[in-house]
Amino acid sequence: MTVTRFAPSPTGYLHIGNLRTALFNFLIARKAGGQFILRLDDTDPERSKPEYAEAIQEDLRWLGLTWDRLERQSSRLDRYEAAADELRAMGRLYECFETPTELELKRKKQLNMGKPPVYDRAALALSEAEKERLRAERGPGHWRFRLDHERIEWEDGILGHLSIDAASVSDPVLIRGDGQFLYTLASVCDDIDYGITDVVRGSDHVTNTATQIQIIRALGGEVPRFAHHSLLTGPQGEALSKRLGTLALRDLRARGIEPMALLSLLARLGSSDPVELRHSVDELAEGFELSHFGSAPTKFDPDDLVPLTARLLQSLPFEAVAEDIRAIGVPDGLARQFWETVRGNIETRADMAGWWKLFSEGAEPLIAEEDREFVEQALALLPPHPYTPETWGEWTAAVKRATGRKGKALFMPLRKAVTGRERGPEMADVMPLLQKPVAA
Ligand code: GLU
Repeated sequence: MTVTRFAPSPTGYLHIGNLRTALFNFLIARKAGGQFILRLDDTDPERSKPEYAEAIQEDLRWLGLTWDRLERQSSRLDRYEAAADELRAMGRLYECFETPTELELKRKKQLNMGKPPVYDRAALALSEAEKERLRAERGPGHWRFRLDHERIEWEDGILGHLSIDAASVSDPVLIRGDGQFLYTLASVCDDIDYGITDVVRGSDHVTNTATQIQIIRALGGEVPRFAHHSLLTGPQGEALSKRLGTLALRDLRARGIEPMALLSLLARLGSSDPVELRHSVDELAEGFELSHFGSAPTKFDPDDLVPLTARLLQSLPFEAVAEDIRAIGVPDGLARQFWETVRGNIETRADMAGWWKLFSEGAEPLIAEEDREFVEQALALLPPHPYTPETWGEWTAAVKRATGRKGKALFMPLRKAVTGRERGPEMADVMPLLQKPVAA
């Protein structure tokens, strides 16, 4: 069975970049009829916050990306300890005592000599007595996984065949000096224990994958299929990292972006498949092909979400918006008529409230100086309230006869006088929805 996972650290709000990872993993599981696990990578007690863990779940629920299982790394420390013992027993985990400053110095020296900044394994040469002394001086050391210096190869679901020389990578730290397990070890244990078959994550994880493949093998686990998607950039190709703070999913939600507009875009952006609006995650899953995604950075323009949201809303049946329409106070008897009238003129659900306010309370008229007399004359000819579907036709015909105006010169000043706006739904449809007579 296909089992995927989305593994955010609850150290902040989910943003558009995280969503891409979540969505791909969700769709793979959904398409295969498998399982999707939400895993909170919360081994860092200082940076992980319960409110972020809550917010992550809330955002995913809003999008309809529901999970079959929720797991927290913080509840599995015993398992990580056991795995560390196993690796120690195999001689694959060794204690190091360099301070961050010392490591930085080593890196600089290597770079100056034109060498890649790979950890030199000096700690492997320490005798027991030397380690005792260092422990007494500096406290417990941190623990690194000793990589086998061979080529690590895999068929990446997006990047194709990858081959990384393990000697070009530093032995990864799995346990910090203060005993905290790092993500690399925790993630491997979880992926093994939960039977993860497919891992999709950002291309910033490619090196992690190489080291994790060796750790998985050392622990006797099955290596999942890995795929690394490209990172999103801004519309001009600029790094998105600085703007991600403003592209939190909750901000998009507050702006009225529709979940399925967002998901429809992100499920195809960066692939060879066209973006088409879909109304359910199942429809999206059906056409989802990981191998159609490219390795090049993917341009993302948040402004694209607005017209997509508008198109999505316009395509919705009345039933899908009935609740919202009731909530803004439209009487049940008018709800359907209201929706048919405004659906082509809204960008977000929130815009419906503006139209209902206008229909129920009337608008501040918009009258150009040169039209003042004309509008006054026209309003005197307006049939009495309540207005009917015929009102607009009858009224404008009468105004035309009386003033000789026609076309835009006739209709536009009247639209602006009645609605206070230059654009909007058909006036013949607007008139019967007006709950109060147009003020003369
Ligand atoms: N917590 C890791 C991250 O957010 C998970 C990476 C992974 O998918 O393994 O980067």
